[in-house]
Amino acid sequence: MSSQEHIIIRGLRQNNLKNVSLDIPKGKIVVFTGVSGSGKSSIVFDTIAAESQRQMNETYTAFMRGRLPKYEKPKVERIDNLSASVIVDQSRLGGNARSTVGTISDMYAALRLLYSRIGTPYAGTASYFSFNDPNGMCKTCSGIGKFWTWTLNVP
Ligand SMILES: [Zn+2]
Repeated sequence: MSSQEHIIIRGLRQNNLKNVSLDIPKGKIVVFTGVSGSGKSSIVFDTIAAESQRQMNETYTAFMRGRLPKYEKPKVERIDNLSASVIVDQSRLGGNARSTVGTISDMYAALRLLYSRIGTPYAGTASYFSFNDPNGMCKTCSGIGKFWTWTLNVP
């Protein structure tokens, strides 16, 4: 196993983890699964993501660091081959019912433009690929993805 192709974690004691060591393949989709409380979030968010963000923040000036969120150094003997991370967790990002990974990351605008330009047959401008635009949204749920029922109270 090549050491450069894995994130190497040794002696992890974050939260309830008891001296856990693991090698995580890079350039692949890796799934952490287990019962509630088994330590998935401790590994992924509190160790890998936190350490990656902490290392990245250290590259900024003291002025900038004072304005960035603080990340605790995880309780671990060693982490090697960590890269920059993008954290997409399960918490709501303050958006509304129409917020998605695409809208929050701004990829959504680029994707709509791409679909409108390369899609065949031509379906319309980028607005036709938006669930936030009357041209593109579902007429039934107005792009929310849920069905609403209205009761008309006619006297
Ligand atoms: Zn709908």
